[in-house]
Amino acid sequence: MKFLLMYNPVSGRANFKSNLAKIIKEFSKTNHEIDIYESKEPKDLEKVSAIESKHYDVFLVAGGDGTVNEVLNGMMNSEKKPILGLLPSGTANDIAAILGINKNIKRSLKIYFNEKPVEMDVNQLNERYFLYTVASGILSRISYDVTRRHIKKYGYFAYVIEAMKDFSHDYRYPVKVKYDHQYLSCECVMILGLSTNRVGGMSLVNFSESKLNDGLFELRFFKRAKSFWRFRLLSSFIRGGKKLREDIHLVSSKFEIETSSNVEWNVDGEYACKGNIVIKTQKKAIKVFASPKRKKRYF
Ligand SMILES: [Mg+2]
Repeated sequence: MKFLLMYNPVSGRANFKSNLAKIIKEFSKTNHEIDIYESKEPKDLEKVSAIESKHYDVFLVAGGDGTVNEVLNGMMNSEKKPILGLLPSGTANDIAAILGINKNIKRSLKIYFNEKPVEMDVNQLNERYFLYTVASGILSRISYDVTRRHIKKYGYFAYVIEAMKDFSHDYRYPVKVKYDHQYLSCECVMILGLSTNRVGGMSLVNFSESKLNDGLFELRFFKRAKSFWRFRLLSSFIRGGKKLREDIHLVSSKFEIETSSNVEWNVDGEYACKGNIVIKTQKKAIKVFASPKRKKRYF
């Protein structure tokens, strides 16, 4: 098979470039071919993957969730879609963790050389494609508000500091939701959508039982309670994303949400848009490589 390795030289703290020789050596032991492309600027990989989709069998993406999201958006705008394989090297690597791929490159390549790919759902928020999460409200800006300088210095802890700062703000926004011919409206402090039960490096075991190939997405509306809403929100997270009595949890393949024009939405940790949105799930839209254990659990 023909692989294109795309990597983001500014992802995470370590320099991915130092792994290239090792990767080329592993490929030389097989019949597979590999080309290598280094990202030149933000969104570069989106353009490159749209153009190169038809020339390759596998896109190997080295970086964090943001890098994967760029490649996904490029691929989805191309008719032929290569299989997606990840080499996590960012600060936030939730998508790779969901697929059971860790930072051990040799072990990951073994999966790509030997395992059969699986079909996976792709979600869409307005025009942007995403794989694993959508969020608005409290905590949702953290992933892109943290400066690269802080990530370099503190690593994952930079996100924790930003989260603590965010908790001092007051959040409250109205939403109207349409799904499966039903309507509801409420006032939220946060909306969190997940395709599995992992987000922000946490495993929310009580969030859902969702699969990555069922064509469905899950949205949790964390309502603005009259009192102690911060404490209630934290308690839900501490208990693995357990649903609180007043909150709403919906499962569907399409949600239409109306809200204030200043409400920001984040997909896969990247800023997407403000205001009203439509979320859709395309069943089994791409092929990905995953570890045997994760294939059993999520597919
Ligand atoms: Mg699902």
